[in-house]
Amino acid sequence: NCVTVETANKTYPVLIGENAVQEISTVLAQMPKQPTRLFVIADEAVYALHGDALKRTLPPNIPSDWHMVPAGESAKSFQVFEQCLSAMLEAALDRHSLVIAFGGGACGDLAGFCAASYMRGIPFIQVPTTILAHDSAVGGKTAINHPLGKNMIGAFHQPEAVLYDTSFLPSLSPKETRSGFAEVIKHAFIADEAMLQDILQNVQETADINGAFLETCLQKGIEIKGAIVKEDEKETGVRAFLNFGHTYGHAVEALSGYGKVAHGEAVACGMIFALYASEYKNGLTYDIPSFASWLKGVGYPVEAGLRFSFEEVYQVMTRDKKAYGGTVRFVLLNSIGEPYVTDMTKEELQKIEEHVRKEAD
Ligand code: NAD
Ligand code: ZN
Repeated sequence: NCVTVETANKTYPVLIGENAVQEISTVLAQMPKQPTRLFVIADEAVYALHGDALKRTLPPNIPSDWHMVPAGESAKSFQVFEQCLSAMLEAALDRHSLVIAFGGGACGDLAGFCAASYMRGIPFIQVPTTILAHDSAVGGKTAINHPLGKNMIGAFHQPEAVLYDTSFLPSLSPKETRSGFAEVIKHAFIADEAMLQDILQNVQETADINGAFLETCLQKGIEIKGAIVKEDEKETGVRAFLNFGHTYGHAVEALSGYGKVAHGEAVACGMIFALYASEYKNGLTYDIPSFASWLKGVGYPVEAGLRFSFEEVYQVMTRDKKAYGGTVRFVLLNSIGEPYVTDMTKEELQKIEEHVRKEAD
């Protein structure tokens, strides 16, 4: 299966399916100029599980180097970034060398930023290995973290291709599976009501998130993300809709301590909050309690945000880069599939938070 992503200066394929990674030779052969070298930046945990599968598919006629980075979020540091660039210089990569990102969203963000910065930008390919990465590998946002803020140092740099091999996904933990799938649910809420229905019907527990059903969901999610990126590559407009569930979600993630509540688990809490906010602000008609209890049944920690006071959550939300003078910018829904952006006052947010709390009792 293939989704084509179009942006102002690059159109690229996202190949999705079992063994998608085997298409790498074809993808390389179709590049205007054959890469002189391949430089794989691999999440070390992913390498241990699936490294051989990728290694076997690399074309033997192009020299390749492998560089390991720490598993998960700790890869997105200045130190790891510098180590990657040093290794790239030592390997004497030139403008026609190609970086391959092999891992989840963290490794993809780091490797993409390495490719964006090395000699002011060299080509790269994403080989994402998490469900969440159906979102992060598409769209060209790359970044590392600064001690003062997540994703604050980065660049827009579109990949040459995304090879999304679903045979890597079954080794994900239930927590990572749920976390990534929350972004699939998000894509359904902002763009596709029928997809949302399908998800609610087919998934009753984390273990149901697999196989052909998951593959279809990922493809739809990528189509939705691709369409948004096509319209608004640099996030001046509709790309902000992708933040549905993220304003309150980010606060829950930060307050819980990153990693304790996974990103997507926090986004699940954020979607409940944004749905109640939509009901309050513009009369959205949607059975939110049923959705919340479905999330809970699948294993999402839907009450994770309620451990913190409103004041704590509000403080973090106004610290967020999406905040303007006391109000907090939210993505809400007029109806399922019809998002819009609005600023919410502290008073409004407090009312909604009280309502979320009451409904959870
Ligand atoms: P991750 O990359 O941190 O991976 C999570 C964990 O899963 C890690 O420990 C990793 O080693 C492990 N893992 C990865 N693939 C595996 C597999 N197939 N089997 C077993 N374990 C595996 O997390 P993520 O959720 O994929 O990505 C989160 C990152 O994505 C964040 O840094 C976030 O900022 C970023 N992100 C970027 C964008 C974007 O547009 N660029 C969008 C959303 C999120
Ligand atoms: Zn997210």
